[in-house]
Amino acid sequence: MMADKLQEVHRRIEAACAQAARPVESVTLLAVSKTFGPAAVRDAFEAGERRFGENYVQEGIDKIAALGDLRARIEWHLIGPLQSNKTRVVAEQFDWVHSVDRLKIAQRLSEQRPQHLPPLQVCLQVNISGEASKSGLAVAEVIDAACAVAALPRLRLRGLMAIPEPAASFDDQRRPHRALRELLGALQAQGQPVDTLSMGMSADLEAAVAEGATIVRVGTAIFGGRG
Ligand SMILES: *Cc1c(COP(=O)(O)O)cnc(C)c1O
Repeated sequence: MMADKLQEVHRRIEAACAQAARPVESVTLLAVSKTFGPAAVRDAFEAGERRFGENYVQEGIDKIAALGDLRARIEWHLIGPLQSNKTRVVAEQFDWVHSVDRLKIAQRLSEQRPQHLPPLQVCLQVNISGEASKSGLAVAEVIDAACAVAALPRLRLRGLMAIPEPAASFDDQRRPHRALRELLGALQAQGQPVDTLSMGMSADLEAAVAEGATIVRVGTAIFGGRG
């Protein structure tokens, strides 16, 4: 069941890569396990997945603990909102944070990242569709924020993340993903060694891969509906 769904998602990624003339290794699947328990993560691990995304800090921490025997073999990514009073456990427990949306959070994560661990891998979340209700940096803030975050010693700035407004047509799905890619290009043109575009979910991963996604974050298509 789980293995079939995973196979189908990998097949979609492969087809999208072929369509875009991109090597399939250039896109990494992040399995978004939010609201599903440790048993579901273990099933996906047994089917070959090694990278999991969590939205809620406490739920993620609990799952990391419940799957302690797999800790060295799983990469845990926080992809949901992060408040400043939760940064310490995140700096101590996660490998990646995709949802850094202000400098204060980045500074705390850097100060709190334990010395015995490698730098925390981070992306800046961008409000690419400019929605009033959405978190993320405004496009105009991204270059300055990236310079400041890149200078923090215990973080490694990897790139940009976005959750575009849902759109029905393929062209409308591509537009915000293209805008995020262009923003990453602007950072690279300034000499930032960034390589990651975290974009694309169950409904729009093909459009994201067409525009250069390097990490697609897929939940529903792997684990089923969240009720
Ligand atoms: C839930 C979530 C996903 C996965 O969405 P699906 O539509 O279930 O694939 C990806 N990214 C973020 C930030 C999410 O919160």
